[in-house]
Amino acid sequence: MSEVAISEGLSEREVAAPKKERTFVMIKPGSIERGLVGTVIERFERKGLTIAALKLVQLTKQVAETQYAEHKGEEYFDALVAYMTSGPTIALMLEGLNAINVARETAGKTDPREAQPGTIRADFGIDTRHNVVHASDSEAAANREIGIHFPELS
Ligand code: GDP
Ligand code: MG
Repeated sequence: MSEVAISEGLSEREVAAPKKERTFVMIKPGSIERGLVGTVIERFERKGLTIAALKLVQLTKQVAETQYAEHKGEEYFDALVAYMTSGPTIALMLEGLNAINVARETAGKTDPREAQPGTIRADFGIDTRHNVVHASDSEAAANREIGIHFPELS
């Protein structure tokens, strides 16, 4: 039974041979204002991810729009960009086995009200916009987002 639970959502290859990956995480402005940076980073570290790069970044409108380009045209897009540029953020490159999935699972579902207790968004998120943290959702997204924020490392 535990084997079924462990393999849920993962390909056979990932179960058989976890892959060392890099992913991109961004701690959103409200979390910095609320003093949650240490707590949020600790959640990822406790799941086995390590910090490969970290910096404080004030996003410009242009960079925020690029980061969230796939959402252009959604009714929440302008508010999302306004929030992401409302104060400094923390850009992180995290490294570890299955880092992309692990970071997504540690963050939890987009809407904090739907996220599992124990995830960052369930425990600290306020609503879908103020959901504490961003984490890349695929290898392509991780590479693209690392390229935006850490071009020297991509
Ligand atoms: P994520 O990958 O879990 O962060 O979620 P998405 O890629 O779907 O959306 C990116 C970000 O846009 C989310 O983290 C939210 O901050 C915001 N967002 C997405 N959907 C909504 C929505 O329906 N309403 C609002 N207000 N914000 C949203
Ligand atoms: Mg996303």
